Amino acid sequence: MQCQTASELMSLRLDGALSDDEERALDAHLAVCAACSADWAHMQSACDAFSALTLAEPPAQFAARVMQRVQRRSRRLSLARAGLSVLLVALMLSTLFIAPLRALFSITESVSSVPALISTLVGAIVGVASVAGTVLGALQVVLKALISSPTWLVLAGYLAICAVVAVTWARLALRRPQTDR
Ligand SMILES: [Zn+2]
Repeated sequence: MQCQTASELMSLRLDGALSDDEERALDAHLAVCAACSADWAHMQSACDAFSALTLAEPPAQFAARVMQRVQRRSRRLSLARAGLSVLLVALMLSTLFIAPLRALFSITESVSSVPALISTLVGAIVGVASVAGTVLGALQVVLKALISSPTWLVLAGYLAICAVVAVTWARLALRRPQTDR
């Protein structure tokens, strides 16, 4: 067999287009021809490299790219889910704790203003009680006078005392809000 024919047969063998007779003839030539044997080895390794490039590598890159995309999307999804859960937890916390806390703080704020209110109320009650005590004392005096000597002068005095007490009470009642503020 000529080396030229062997080269053509080697190309055909790579395509899987050799008959059994041609295969046997090529093998016989390769066994005795070192140059064609070396060529065949080179052709096989080149074919292996080509098939590895066209078949093995791209699928690996494709798979890696797909995995990267899936991971990125799942990361985005988990981030969105985490953000949503944080938002929900914040809403729950605000409804469960912050609103009652705010109510509590507003209560404590009003509590801090309670002593002033109490002092105002106590002052008003003390004022009213003192006025009432004065009126009762005057009534007692007038009643005793009426019982001992029931005259119109005593009645006039009682009315005068009542008028003075009423005027004093009115003055106290009118003055109290001004002095407290
Ligand atoms: Zn040869």
